Amino acid sequence: MCIICIDFDRGALKPKEARRALGEMREKLGREHAEEVEQKLREAEATAEQKPGA
Ligand SMILES: [Zn+2]
Repeated sequence: MCIICIDFDRGALKPKEARRALGEMREKLGREHAEEVEQKLREAEATAEQKPGA
């Protein structure tokens, strides 16, 4: 859990913004957690793409 997870989970960051933050913070998070965040973002983006009219 990191600032990206916290802000993303409460809706303060959009997937695109969270990706940018991830790019900046990747080294601080460590490879393992960076991958967890990436997975979370992929799922969120996939869900968003399934919404009709979005
Ligand atoms: Zn995190």
